[in-house]
Amino acid sequence: MRRLVIPVLAFKGVLINCSVNIQRIEKDLYRLSEFGGNAAEKGIYRQGFSEADWQARSWLMDYFRQYGLVTHMDGVGNVCGRLGDNELPAVLIGSHLDSVPAGGMFDGVLGVIAGLECIRVIQEQKIPLKHPIEVIATSEEEGRFGGMLGAQALTGALTLDWLEHAKAPDGLALVDAMAQRGLDYHQALHAYRTPESIKAFLELHIEQGPVLEASGNSIGVVEGISGIFKWLIKLIGKADHAGTAPMNMRSDAFMGVADFAHEIQRIIDEDGTDKSRLTIGRVELKPGYAHTIPGEADFTLVGRDMSEEVMHELATNCRKALSSIARRHRLMFEYEQMSWLGPKTCSQDIMSLIETHTQKLNYSYEIMPSGAGHDAQFFTDITPTGMIFIPSIGGISHAPDEWSHWADVEKGCNVLLNTVIELAAE
Ligand SMILES: [Zn+2]
Repeated sequence: MRRLVIPVLAFKGVLINCSVNIQRIEKDLYRLSEFGGNAAEKGIYRQGFSEADWQARSWLMDYFRQYGLVTHMDGVGNVCGRLGDNELPAVLIGSHLDSVPAGGMFDGVLGVIAGLECIRVIQEQKIPLKHPIEVIATSEEEGRFGGMLGAQALTGALTLDWLEHAKAPDGLALVDAMAQRGLDYHQALHAYRTPESIKAFLELHIEQGPVLEASGNSIGVVEGISGIFKWLIKLIGKADHAGTAPMNMRSDAFMGVADFAHEIQRIIDEDGTDKSRLTIGRVELKPGYAHTIPGEADFTLVGRDMSEEVMHELATNCRKALSSIARRHRLMFEYEQMSWLGPKTCSQDIMSLIETHTQKLNYSYEIMPSGAGHDAQFFTDITPTGMIFIPSIGGISHAPDEWSHWADVEKGCNVLLNTVIELAAE
């Protein structure tokens, strides 16, 4: 009888095509979904600094320790588990543990468990590594208090002033929420990691959109995170009687919104790219009565693109379109820019490393931007950063129906594992 030989290929002296144990990953993801999970399948409620979030963090710390990781919670609530005790720059693998209200069981948590699984495989197969590997379950990414708190603290983007003013929509101050969990918010700034202490940052995440499913590709190699701007726009006309005011004598603020909505595709065709997005997400009409012509329309406009120059062109074109529409409908036009965040680019070197391992594993893939914000975007400022996406069924996320095929989860974790091994080996 022939002996079964498992081929082990050498690449730069490192074993490649290692595989994760998908049953173990599946079990861990189900276990974590119990924290803040609703038995009636109404989704997961594990918002930053909630009781459920804290129970999940304490469970994870115990779990990290079971695998012998040097484990601690930093001053902002990030749970960190480290393998390797030398002082060389560490390969960080991270994503968030908190959820949106009624969220799904993959968003964020997948990246954390995938990181732990990488460590388990490395331990079991006794793969020799030069650099430490650290898994970080970040704190308050989803925005209960503004979002990406843990990543901002780790990368030095966090300020005391911001901490002291952040509030949840129900009025709860971030500093009070932290105090409820036994954290002194001054300690949050000590979570900062110097660029010299980090070799790279990697995040595996569900796509949360329909692109990979539509293309049939299993892996998205993320090239960067789209820049984003948010405007609050006001169109002011004249509230009037819906029966007595003739159609040609109105200053109907809603007509202005409707006309602008129709201009969006033209603006993108003229000045945008296939990565441009313009969205009117909220409209409020005043006074808001069925029999009154709206005298005022307040609405939001959110624009995104992978190029800051394109973002500026889109913004200029939107401004021009709104001015001309306002004139046409005898409206006043005002807007306030609430935020402007430039695009963030992933490291070319890490992208090609991810690509190489995806090819070796024989998975189909494409290079794509991330339309959504992620912890990784803050790391692009201080260290070579890479992100891996796997398909979301129906593109659904931030909802109880969020799901990904286990086969795709396995593929994403395998790409992460092989990338991490190569990064930590040299
Ligand atoms: Zn997420």
